[in-house]
Amino acid sequence: MVMTTHEEKMHTTRFRVDDKPHIVVDPDKCKTCSVRACVYVCPANLFVPLGDGSVLFNYEQCFECGTCFIVCSKEGALRWDYPDGGYGVTFRES
Ligand code: SF4
Ligand code: SF4
Repeated sequence: MVMTTHEEKMHTTRFRVDDKPHIVVDPDKCKTCSVRACVYVCPANLFVPLGDGSVLFNYEQCFECGTCFIVCSKEGALRWDYPDGGYGVTFRES
C-alpha cells in the first residue's frame, strides 16, 4: 500500500480562480446559525468562525466537494454552484 501525505497530494492540485465566486455565503444569515457545520466539515478549512458570530469564507481553494451545501440547514445562507468551465480545481496535475 502506497502512503501519500496531504502535502504530497496538494502538490499535484491546481486552482484556476475565477473572479466570480461559485459559492456565496450570506453573513447575516450565518450570524443566526448556532451549529456552523460548514466550519467542521469543509476539508479545505475555508470557513473560519469570527468573534461576532459570522463566518469568514474564501472560495479560492475549494475542492468542489459540495459538503458545505449539504450540511448547511439555513435556507438561503449558502449559494453553491460549480465554477464556470475552465476554472476551479484540478486534481493530479503533474
Ligand atoms: S454557511 Fe450555513 S452552516 Fe455555515 S455558518 Fe452559515 S448558516 Fe451556518
Ligand atoms: S465545496 Fe467542499 S471544499 Fe468547497 S467550500 Fe464547500 S466543503 Fe469546502
